[in-house]
Amino acid sequence: MKVTSPQETAVQFVKGVGPKLAQKLSRLGIETVWDLVFYFPYRYEDRRRFWKISELSPSDGVCQIRGQLIHLDLRRSWRRGIRLLRALFKDDTGTLLVLWFNQDYLADKLQVGEEYILYGRLVRAPYGGLEMVNPEITPQERAEELTAIVPVYSLGSIGLSQRQFRKIVKNALEAYGDRFEDVLKEVTCREKGALPSIQEALKELHFPSDEASLAKARERLVFEEFFRFSLELERRKRYLRKDRTRRYSLYSNEVVKCFVSRLSFELTSAQKRAIEELLSDFRSNKIMHRLLQGDVGSGKTVVAFYVASIVLGSGYQVAFMVPTEILAQQHYAKAVDLFPAGRVELLTASTKRKERERIIHRLAEGEAIMVIGTHSLIQEDVPIPRLGLAIIDEQHRFGVNQRMELARKAPDVDVLVMTATPIPRSLAMTLYGDLDLTVIDELPPGRKPVKTLWITSDKRERLYRFMREQVEAGGQVYVIYPLIEESEDVDLLAAEQMYTYLKSEVFPDIEVGLVHGRMSATEKKQVMDDFYSGKIKILVATVVVEVGIDVPNATVMVIEHAERFGLSQLHQLRGRIGRGDKEAYCIVVSDSENEKTRRRLGAFVKYPDGFELSEIDLILRGPGEFSGQRQHGPSEFRVGNPIVDFPILQRARRCAQSWIRQTEK
Ligand code: ADP
Ligand code: MG
Repeated sequence: MKVTSPQETAVQFVKGVGPKLAQKLSRLGIETVWDLVFYFPYRYEDRRRFWKISELSPSDGVCQIRGQLIHLDLRRSWRRGIRLLRALFKDDTGTLLVLWFNQDYLADKLQVGEEYILYGRLVRAPYGGLEMVNPEITPQERAEELTAIVPVYSLGSIGLSQRQFRKIVKNALEAYGDRFEDVLKEVTCREKGALPSIQEALKELHFPSDEASLAKARERLVFEEFFRFSLELERRKRYLRKDRTRRYSLYSNEVVKCFVSRLSFELTSAQKRAIEELLSDFRSNKIMHRLLQGDVGSGKTVVAFYVASIVLGSGYQVAFMVPTEILAQQHYAKAVDLFPAGRVELLTASTKRKERERIIHRLAEGEAIMVIGTHSLIQEDVPIPRLGLAIIDEQHRFGVNQRMELARKAPDVDVLVMTATPIPRSLAMTLYGDLDLTVIDELPPGRKPVKTLWITSDKRERLYRFMREQVEAGGQVYVIYPLIEESEDVDLLAAEQMYTYLKSEVFPDIEVGLVHGRMSATEKKQVMDDFYSGKIKILVATVVVEVGIDVPNATVMVIEHAERFGLSQLHQLRGRIGRGDKEAYCIVVSDSENEKTRRRLGAFVKYPDGFELSEIDLILRGPGEFSGQRQHGPSEFRVGNPIVDFPILQRARRCAQSWIRQTEK
């Protein structure tokens, strides 16, 4: 009998997975056994340690205790819409107050007098004592599941518990674990060292026996991932050494002339330098394959538009791909002002069918137009036969494959990718070794650094007064809420509640808006348009505004729960303001007492510069961190983080290079 590989085995064959569950899993992109086993935890909880109640301090963050429930009551809260379940637990050293918000169902499940295990975050209570908020609670009988390092998966809201998911991963590993092919088995190189086998690594990554073997398992998978990546990169580099067949008319074309005449500002010298470098690609014998890097607000878009105008005016098509619909709309609106009429189209998931057909028809006919859009552009039924230039904005949101897919729409396409993620040059070389690098290292003139302040939530009254002053002086305000997948519903609720509160209690006379990820594209667009036009003065938003949005009149950004954002994310957010000529303020609100978080926020307040911050981030995070939120870096990797795991990346790359040399002989 032929043994099927995990890639070919539908996840439904795993014990405990029926058709219903399989359907849920497919919403996470899990179709096969392979998908399931490669769906890694994004963090771990160390449930081996129990704290005594008397030892607890708020700087411990998340803690686990064992205690007896001695009192329980359910009450409506002082604030509309919130219901509060309060419980008192005791162990032999003291008592602890525990609160759950909007989780009434727990009231029926809990039994006064019973022992429970609680795992949750500690906060300082208004009266000065300590409270644990929204902890996970498990009856003492099931304790044995928890006295380990427990994986936590990102499950969104598909209606599957962590416990169920752990169970099926375990079953999958038991039944299919030994069928995972070891890619590194044949590979001989010094850098590989003594890494565990793939089977061993997979098991440890899901169910670690201790920190040391988890670290080894992770190293193995990171190495493998970087190895494959480097192999791919080396092969592509060979393939890309292609000769240029097309020639563009660089200056004397109508589109460029129109573009330059409509530009309302003088380009910075960094922008001019960047354009020169891009043009030198057009003049050379090789096709362009370039990374344009510049801090948020440095003006990459106009540089890309400039070269796009050259390509358009020479009779070729341009595709401009961005990660979000809002950003596509914004770029489109700008492009329409700068290019001759009828030369720019917008194609996204919410483009109406008729409109879509019209655009596809124009493209198929080979008309020299620029199409701006989201992932929709790489769909198979969108032909771009005369594609001259593919532009990919906010590159870290796309994988290598997606950028290649766009470039494959026509032969010998010039490729320009753009990113604001500051990465050290050495890292860029390894990560984007197939790309040439151009840096914009200067901001447009008149831009003042954003004043950054960190406040605790007891200063809210003053914050609201300040927001009001700013709005009255003609400014606009963002209020940003974190949205973490794992707690998406609660987070969304928090953002909605803040919106209602601001709108009805604090600023009844000012227009307040709300935008979040679950709204439809049309709803989002409506709100963003209203904010852009100045109708909405205060915009409560989950991180949808993170990428590339540009509202010059916005002068204040308030970031709630700032402790939940990484440094680079905070910096991206801050880059959204300070684009007009007025003084701009970024105010982070956080009560965190965690030492690392405090250092991170301290650095954020102190340094306005993205490069400096990325280095601090690197130091603060340190390699091999045991737990913590998944970082969205310049990354398309499942396990590896090219910044933190840079040494492994280098090793894997050398190994791949020597492997290619060996096998090509
Ligand atoms: P990013 O590099 O983050 O993508 P954008 O291209 O969105 O930055 O540019 C940010 C803002 O700066 C835009 O409003 C843009 O019109 C403006 N801008 C770009 N270049 C200049 C310049 N040379 N002078 C003045 N404003 C500029
Ligand atoms: Mg941009």
